[in-house]
Amino acid sequence: MCVSQWGATSGVPAQIPQCAGCNQHILDKFILKVLDRHWHSSCLKCADCQMQLAERCFSRAGSVYCKEDFFKRFGTKCTACQQGIPPTQVVRKAQDFVYHLHCFACIICSRQLATGDEFYLMEDGRLVCKEDYETAKQNEEQIL
Ligand SMILES: [Zn+2]
Ligand SMILES: [Zn+2]
Ligand SMILES: [Zn+2]
Ligand SMILES: [Zn+2]
Repeated sequence: MCVSQWGATSGVPAQIPQCAGCNQHILDKFILKVLDRHWHSSCLKCADCQMQLAERCFSRAGSVYCKEDFFKRFGTKCTACQQGIPPTQVVRKAQDFVYHLHCFACIICSRQLATGDEFYLMEDGRLVCKEDYETAKQNEEQIL
């Protein structure tokens, strides 16, 4: 992961740098240097949400992202919704599977499972609460 810090050039640059965002020359006092390219402070935006990147940006493969979108794309993926999980978020784990707190829920009744709840973990990481699992099993037995 590459975390780019702000680099503000001081003094008058020998050449007027071109902004990598809008391709205009940068005549601002402060020039941002990210990914070895120069940017207007207003042109450095998250590739996903277009938010102006005020403090820090995260870059990958030539694009810059805000922290949230960076981890949505490249962070640990939630087993249930396939979205990335930012490192600041609380997660739930079941064996090797990782879930958002709100995604750690029964696929049948959608009830969020709490610590200490009994549940059945399917091979693909889906969760079924104990009641629904037992109901499903009973139904299966009736069918057989
Ligand atoms: Zn620009
Ligand atoms: Zn963003
Ligand atoms: Zn999720
Ligand atoms: Zn359930």
